[in-house]
Amino acid sequence: MQIRVAVIGAGTMGAGIAQVCAQAGWETRLYDAFPEGLEVGMARIDSFWDSGISRGKTTPEQKSEWSANLSAVTDLAEAVADVDLVIEAVPEIIELKRSIFADLSELAPAEAVLGTNTSGLRISDIAGATSRPDKVVGMHFFNPVPIMKLLELVRHDDISDSTIEFARSVGAAMGKTTILVNDVPGFATSRLGVVLGNEAIRMLADGVASASDIDTAMRLGYKHPMGPLELSDLVGLDIRRDILNNLAEAFDDESYRPHPLLDRLVEAGDLGKKTGKGIYDWSSGEKAERDL
Ligand code: NAD
Repeated sequence: MQIRVAVIGAGTMGAGIAQVCAQAGWETRLYDAFPEGLEVGMARIDSFWDSGISRGKTTPEQKSEWSANLSAVTDLAEAVADVDLVIEAVPEIIELKRSIFADLSELAPAEAVLGTNTSGLRISDIAGATSRPDKVVGMHFFNPVPIMKLLELVRHDDISDSTIEFARSVGAAMGKTTILVNDVPGFATSRLGVVLGNEAIRMLADGVASASDIDTAMRLGYKHPMGPLELSDLVGLDIRRDILNNLAEAFDDESYRPHPLLDRLVEAGDLGKKTGKGIYDWSSGEKAERDL
């Protein structure tokens, strides 16, 4: 499979998605509305490849081949001009995603498939902002994208079979295992993930056990590779809170609302690993328990 791809948003997810596209041998353009966002994203990819070289997992020849496939673009029209696939990875705000999809609908070639990496918004709401809903698909990747094997594809009422097949082939060419889920907010993964994380936060606030003991309970007792609290810090507490609020509204069910401790941490700017503090203190580079 040889395609051209544009990735919109060069943050945690967009950089990872662009990286796997470049590694798949595809001409890949990474776009961000903010020049510093683009710089950080490109630097993150570069350092991922450099650390692969220092660990003997990547050769310098591979890195130069992959780098040649990847370019940073600051103009949206230029980024999507002649691509086969666009994957959007901007923040989880429905109005923002809809406005970008309206632009993509104008700017990307008529036959291009438009994927969204939303963690849980309704795909039909995003597809409805375009004049080609049949070509819009949920492509939910996991963090860190180059390592995580799952790609959750989301179908909605207006999607065409050929778009689903195309998205499956893209996932397979990236080395991912795809699952296909219906367009229900939170899909399969985010819904279960955030509910477990929110309950773990409630247990922490109620004094059931320390954060690391709650995490160890799930790691050793249930064979989860990572505990629900450390995972929340890795994903970003702001992202998890947004998903919970979106679920509460979509299902009209207050039991999905974020626990007040989660609200408090997000409002204080303690968003997890990315800000150095969340449920844990990560500022020393290691995970340390905090007094919350
Ligand atoms: P992030 O905040 O790390 O990155 C978002 C990027 O989008 C930033 O670089 C920002 O500058 C850029 N951006 C903002 N407005 C833009 C615009 N108008 N046009 C182009 N770029 C713009 O966020 P993230 O963690 O990468 O999440 C992105 C999406 O992926 C969200 O929908 C999120 O729910 C989803 N997601 C996140 C994770 C995760 O673990 N972080 C996992 C799966 C899915």
